[in-house]
Amino acid sequence: MRIRRLKLSGFKSFVEPTELRIEPGLTGVVGPNGCGKSNLLEAIRWVMGEGSPKSLRGGGMEDVIFAGTATRPPRDFAEVSILLDRDGEDGGEGEVTRRIERGAGSAYRIDGRDVRAKDVSLLFADAATGAHSPALVSQGKVGSIIASKPVERRQLLEEAAGISGLHARRKDAEQKLRAAEANLARLSELLSDQE
Ligand code: ATP
Repeated sequence: MRIRRLKLSGFKSFVEPTELRIEPGLTGVVGPNGCGKSNLLEAIRWVMGEGSPKSLRGGGMEDVIFAGTATRPPRDFAEVSILLDRDGEDGGEGEVTRRIERGAGSAYRIDGRDVRAKDVSLLFADAATGAHSPALVSQGKVGSIIASKPVERRQLLEEAAGISGLHARRKDAEQKLRAAEANLARLSELLSDQE
């Protein structure tokens, strides 16, 4: 999976609709302190489903919405889209979008269709990437990996190996199994009551 384009609108300092094409090869983002370089990486993690405002340097998720300046009013929403080259079976291009509105929370779309947050995280987990991918190295990340516990390191390796999506599916399957077992138990009770 390769990110080909990033579109932002109202996300942190990117108040105006902004589009960045990411060409093959090495891409560098340069600019003075505070110009928004880290905000770009955070936009990628956010659209991939990042659920922790703290890891996006905010107190709440709505802090990703442009908060306004002395000369510009705040925005009511933030939206980020990434265009992907999908490898593997599906192939082709795909666009993932996340939007947040004040007071209304986040909504996700894949190729224009409304989807759940879980669908987005599974899409990226299956491609061995995602909001917590070790490939997205934010400030302080190297130090935190060195200081991490063995269980946390294992999670990193599992994400890199593309198997974290399997854990999520296993949890789902186990929940469905438990619900089916409860239904069966209830059914046997009803049957024995009738006998
Ligand atoms: P450095 O080189 O110092 O690490 P940087 O280029 O990575 O800086 P960022 O940390 O990405 O810069 O951007 C910080 C800027 O984004 C600050 O000017 C901050 O005010 C602005 N910013 C962050 N969140 C918002 C928001 N919700 N609304 C408006 N501006 C925001």
